[in-house]
Amino acid sequence: MKRLSATISLAALALAGCTTASDAPVARASAEPVPEPLLADADLEHPLTPAGAKAFVEEVEAEFLELSDIAGRAAWINSTYILDDSDRLSAYFGTIFTEKGVEYASKAAKYAEVEGLDYDTARKLDILRGSLTLAAPSRDGAAKELNEIATKLQSMYGKGKAELDGKEVPGVDAEEMMATLRDPAKLKQLWTSWHDNVGKPMKDDYARMVAIANEGARELGYADTGNMWRSQYDMTPQEFSAMYDRLWAETKPLYDDLHCYVRSELNEFYGDDVQPANGPIRADLLGNMWAQEWGAIYDIVAPEGAGDLGYNLTDLLIANDVDEVEMVRIGERFYTSLGLDPLPESFWEKSQFIKPQDREVVCHASAWNVDNVDDLRIKMCIKRNEADFVTIHHELGHNYYQRAYNQQPYLYLNGANDGFHEAIGDFVALSVTPEYLVQIGLLDADKVPSADKDIGLLLSQAMDKVAFLPFGLLVDKWRWGVFDGSTPPAQYNDSWVGLKQQYQGIVPPVPRGPDAFDPGAKYHIPGNTPYARYFLARILQFQFYKAACDMAGWDGPLHRCSFYGNKEVGQRLNAMLEMGASKPWPDALESFTGTRQMTAKPMVEYFAPLHTWLKEQNQGKNCGWNS
Ligand SMILES: [Zn+2]
Repeated sequence: MKRLSATISLAALALAGCTTASDAPVARASAEPVPEPLLADADLEHPLTPAGAKAFVEEVEAEFLELSDIAGRAAWINSTYILDDSDRLSAYFGTIFTEKGVEYASKAAKYAEVEGLDYDTARKLDILRGSLTLAAPSRDGAAKELNEIATKLQSMYGKGKAELDGKEVPGVDAEEMMATLRDPAKLKQLWTSWHDNVGKPMKDDYARMVAIANEGARELGYADTGNMWRSQYDMTPQEFSAMYDRLWAETKPLYDDLHCYVRSELNEFYGDDVQPANGPIRADLLGNMWAQEWGAIYDIVAPEGAGDLGYNLTDLLIANDVDEVEMVRIGERFYTSLGLDPLPESFWEKSQFIKPQDREVVCHASAWNVDNVDDLRIKMCIKRNEADFVTIHHELGHNYYQRAYNQQPYLYLNGANDGFHEAIGDFVALSVTPEYLVQIGLLDADKVPSADKDIGLLLSQAMDKVAFLPFGLLVDKWRWGVFDGSTPPAQYNDSWVGLKQQYQGIVPPVPRGPDAFDPGAKYHIPGNTPYARYFLARILQFQFYKAACDMAGWDGPLHRCSFYGNKEVGQRLNAMLEMGASKPWPDALESFTGTRQMTAKPMVEYFAPLHTWLKEQNQGKNCGWNS
C-alpha cells in the first residue's frame, strides 16, 4: 500500500508496499493540493549544461532523502494511529512531496534535453520526469482542478456502497459477500448495485481528468499519460505493448482451458438458466466483484478425490502453538536460510504485527523502510491463518529488497521495474510447499500429500494466479486507449465490457445502460494506480522461482520445488536486489535468471500437470466463448 500520495510515486519510494491486485480500497483520501507549476528557463537554478543537470539531480536527491525520512515517520504514525492530528501531519508532508514532485518533474524534462549527459544523470532525470502518475499542466488553475477531481474520485470510491435486498452494503462487506454467497439473484443485485452506484457518477469527472492529465503529460514530453506510464520500462511504449501482448499469448492457452473447465462446473452447479454451458461466464459467479481472482469458488470446481489436500496450514499453525510473531520469525528464517542477514532488532520493536485494540489503524499489509537504510518494518493485523502466513513471506520480500538496495542513491531506491517489487515476495511465497512445511517442522513427513493431490493444489493456485492474468492485462489496455483518445468518453464502458469479454471471456450479469461506467467500480481506476505491474509480477514470480529451483538443482516437477536453505540462491538473489533501479530491468533479470527477456514459460511449466488434466476434463466440450 502506498500511503503518501496519489499523484506522485516518488514520495512512496521508501514505503514500497502492496497495492496488490486484491487491494482493499482506502476509504480515507487526503487532499493534496498541487501547486501551479512554473517553468521558464529562468526558473532553473543550474545552467542547462551536463554539469548543471548533474548538480540539479544531486540537490533533488539530497532534499528527497532528508524529506522522506520525516515524511515516512508521519505516514507510519498516521497508518498505525489514525487520528485527525496524524491525518494532518501526514497530509502536510504528502503535500510537500506532491509540490516538489511536480516542480522537479518539469525541471527534469528541461535538463533531460541537454546533450552529453552522463549515464546516471540521464537515467535519473528520466526517472524524475516520469515519476508522476498524473501530471498537471502549467496553465492557471489546471493543477488545482486536476487534484480536486482526483481526490473526489478516490473519495467517491471510498464511500461507495452496494445494495442487497434494499439495504446498503459497504464495499468491504460487498466484496466478502461476492466471495461467499452462492445465490445468483443476490450476487446479481450486489454486482449491479455496486457498478451502478460507484461507477456511474464518476464518468464525466473521469473524462475531464483524462483531458487535463494528458495536457500535463504532453508538457513533460510524452504523447499522452498512457504513453508516459509505458515509458517507465527501459523500452519504448511500443516495445512495451508488444512485450505485454507476447506474455499474454504465452499464457492464453492455459487460461482458455481453465475458463472452459470452470464454466462447465458453474453450469453444473447453477444450471443453464444462470450459466449456460457455452459462451462467456457471468461475471458475478466467480467469487470476486471484478472476476479477477476466482479462488473463493474453489469449492465449486474442486476435483473429486483430489480436492482435499489432507492437511490445513491454518490448523497446523494452531496445533503447533505458532503465534503471530512466531509466524514472522518463520518468515524471516526463510530469508536467513538463504544466507541473507537477519532483520534488525528495531524491526521487532517497531513493526505492527497485531491489530491494536485501543485505536484505529490501517490493517492492509505493507512493508516499509522508514529511513531508507535499515529501519525496516511491516504493518499488518496478522491472523493465524494460511493467507497471512503467505502474506508475511511476501511482505518480507519487500523489506529484503529495500535493505539490499539501500546503498543506492535516492532515485535508484526502487525495484528494477514496478513488477519486480511485488514479484520478489510472491516468488518466495511460492516456495511454501508441503515439503517446506516439513523442513520447518510444521508438518509431519508422512502427511505430505501424495502426487495424486497435486491437481487440487495446482487448481486452487490457478484459480487465483492464472485467472488473474487477462484481468491484470486489460485494466491498463483500457486506460491506454482512453488516454490516447482511441476510446472517446462515449465508448468508455463499451470498451471496458468489450475487453473483459475479449480477454477474460466474462460478461456482466445484466445489460449495461448507456450511462454506465463500470471501470470506475474498480479501485485502481478512480485511484489512478497503474496496473501493468501486477500483470508483470504474476509472470515474473514464476521466472524467479524457476531460476532459483534450477540453481538449487531441483529436477522434480516445478511446483514441488522449495529452495529453502540454498545459499547460492540467496547470493544471486541479493546481487539482483542490490541493483535497485540503477540499471535497466533486463540487466537485473539477467543477473538472477540468466535471461534478459521476460517470459511466461516458467509459469506455463509450473501449471503443466494441471493443464494436461484440464484438457482431459474439457474433451468434447465447446471451449472458447466467441460463437
Ligand atoms: Zn506487496
